[in-house]
Amino acid sequence: MATVEWRSPASEMAVKQLEVAAERLNLDSNVAVRLRRPDRSLIVSVPTRMDDGRVHVFTGYRVQHNDVLGPFKGGIRYHPDVNLGEVSALAMWMTWKCSLVGLPLGGAKGGVACDPMQLSRAELQAMTRRYTAEILNFIGPEVDVPAPDMGTNEQVMAWVMDTYSQHKGHAVPEIVTGKPLDIGGTLGRREATGRGLTYIIIEAAGHLGMDLSRATAAVQGFGNVGSVAAKELADLGVKVIGVSDQSGGFYDEAGLPVHRMLEYAAKNRDLSGCPYGHPVSNEDLLTLKCDILVPAALGMQITGRNAGKLRCRVLAEGANGPTTLDADEILREKEIFVIPDVLANAGGVIVSYFEWVQDLQNFFWTEAEVNKRLRDILSRAFQEVLKVSLKEKVDMRLAALMIGVSRVARAMLWRGLYA
Ligand code: GLU
Repeated sequence: MATVEWRSPASEMAVKQLEVAAERLNLDSNVAVRLRRPDRSLIVSVPTRMDDGRVHVFTGYRVQHNDVLGPFKGGIRYHPDVNLGEVSALAMWMTWKCSLVGLPLGGAKGGVACDPMQLSRAELQAMTRRYTAEILNFIGPEVDVPAPDMGTNEQVMAWVMDTYSQHKGHAVPEIVTGKPLDIGGTLGRREATGRGLTYIIIEAAGHLGMDLSRATAAVQGFGNVGSVAAKELADLGVKVIGVSDQSGGFYDEAGLPVHRMLEYAAKNRDLSGCPYGHPVSNEDLLTLKCDILVPAALGMQITGRNAGKLRCRVLAEGANGPTTLDADEILREKEIFVIPDVLANAGGVIVSYFEWVQDLQNFFWTEAEVNKRLRDILSRAFQEVLKVSLKEKVDMRLAALMIGVSRVARAMLWRGLYA
């Protein structure tokens, strides 16, 4: 069970996953006990002047789980459900994700409990700058490097970068990744998570003998991950039969016009009122008969309640923590091939790492270079996870966690306990 301060459904899930991996690895219990909880957690008040002149105090968090492999790394989430427990779980998953794909980085996550859709641009900027100022002494290019996550984007990262830089007295682009290109961002970062997910699906299809040009897919979520994944899959010849966002979903057995839907969403902020396909609820989208299901929205979407009704062959987790523990068991029985979040959506942090490296060197790469290096890392990681899964007769999630956790544990054993 998660330690009381950080307890939440998400952190219970993350800690339980760690425990299962630790047991399977026969992990040193003195290491396991340290990994169950984050290194450092910060809760800050974020007073923000709203457009009507009133001051509203938001609550912000930054949780740093483990930095044995390198500086903490992880996104900043703006969502009403953000709380200490959720952010802690997400920070722990970042530790395994970075370790699994071999990045010299640790795991962190931050966020502010707010509804960014209800905030004006001025309010969003004021809140972001004050949140950055509040966590300023706990982040840094060699300490902890934030990035976008749900509800944040390149504009928010630009404000984080500017606030940090103003305090330091000079430009510090390497403080944050997922920035606009004009201020030190990298080519390919915006698309990286959805693109990486597609590279991983290509590997999985190769393993399963699935012909992608005859495959169908459904994608839950049409944000930065889901929309790019849908586009990349469609470009590969996959028939995308369902997509959804928070406003609802659309379904067409003959395949949806993904490119036109992307244009629609860009113009109208979301998909509501979109004239393509038939309406389908977010819940029903998950149970569509398809080859590849991509949950790319909120966590805990696939639960004990609906997992039995899933009709996909491959579940590729674009979101963080979309599948609960009891659902995992059902999916195993149904022999659905699950590509776990820490592998499936690692493309984002991999290209974030590339951005940080380029900023530190002041030397920038072409998009082709970025994509090639991304694909190399992900293909190798997929094959490594598959190998452990087959050898140890465990599912892909446990195999991925075993690799991620054991690398961190080895580093901890080398470095020892400072006392
Ligand atoms: N928020 C993304 C994730 O969950 C990216 C983190 C990063 O780029 O540091 O993986």
